[in-house]
Amino acid sequence: GKTSVTLLGLGAMGTALARTWLAAGHPVTVWNRTPARAAALAAEGARVADGAAAAVAANTLVVVCLLDDTSVDEVLAGTDLAGKDLVNLTTSTPAQARGRARWARERGARYLDGGIMAVPPMIGVPEAGGYVFYSGSRELFERHRETLGAPVGTTYVGEDAGFAALYDVALLSAMYGMFAGAAHAFALIRKEDIDPAALAPLLADWLVAMAPAVHRTAGQLRSGDYTEGVGSTLAMQVAGTPTFLSTAEQQGVSPELLSPYFALMRHRLSEGSGEEDLTGVIDLLVRRPGT
Ligand code: NDP
Repeated sequence: GKTSVTLLGLGAMGTALARTWLAAGHPVTVWNRTPARAAALAAEGARVADGAAAAVAANTLVVVCLLDDTSVDEVLAGTDLAGKDLVNLTTSTPAQARGRARWARERGARYLDGGIMAVPPMIGVPEAGGYVFYSGSRELFERHRETLGAPVGTTYVGEDAGFAALYDVALLSAMYGMFAGAAHAFALIRKEDIDPAALAPLLADWLVAMAPAVHRTAGQLRSGDYTEGVGSTLAMQVAGTPTFLSTAEQQGVSPELLSPYFALMRHRLSEGSGEEDLTGVIDLLVRRPGT
């Protein structure tokens, strides 16, 4: 039969996960601090435990999807984790994930940390492309790969329990940079008689067309040669920045989202890197001891 799952935390995400496991035929035991949130799932066949300890005792595979690391502490405090396969899908920092892995090991549990790259409506919808980054015990991941993959895709990123959180935050950080750029673009047209809905498809296509540049960046970081395959040199791009800043000014738009990036580009140029790509900005961001 299908692996039985215990799930602690029935927020928007936990509820979506429980629902897809139930639909896929997995016996599911749930617990939530606010019991009312378990009612709908009970009607769909979930067993509702009357405490976190009872829920943990019910199955070997224990998945937690709570608000934050502090709530994980509170919920698991009185539970016996010896021999358990603990999978923590609660968003955390790499340091919290590593700490939680040690904490779980001390209690006799195997530990896998997850970073969810999906929103609840993407759970149980494979074509939506969502997935979860996993890191920590490879053995646990392999053993439960199929069960973990039932609600949403899985991507294992290494034995270091902090890596799932790190990949998660890396991707989301890049997303915020993209949103910041799009916000500036929309702000530029706001005063004009331009339909934002006419700009949107152009913007989306342009972002998609530019996205593969990250492969060139990765190649340059690997080789250490930041001129490799460069199309638009740093010198040329810095020379263009006044056009961007003047246009913002003419449109009455604050340059505050663009300026910090332009400042880093100028800084790198001042170090004599005019023939390079934009990759040197990364070195300026990474703080090294003694620099
Ligand atoms: P919700 O806010 O919907 O649910 C939070 C859950 O945590 C609830 O079950 C809540 O219980 C429980 N909780 C909070 N504090 C405590 C506590 N001190 N003790 C016991 N239980 C507690 O959040 P989501 O379900 O959306 O998110 C869960 C995790 O998934 C988070 O770490 C989030 O970052 C992550 N995630 C969410 C995404 C999303 O789009 N929703 C996307 C990617 C990751 P109660 O019902 O009693 O309040």
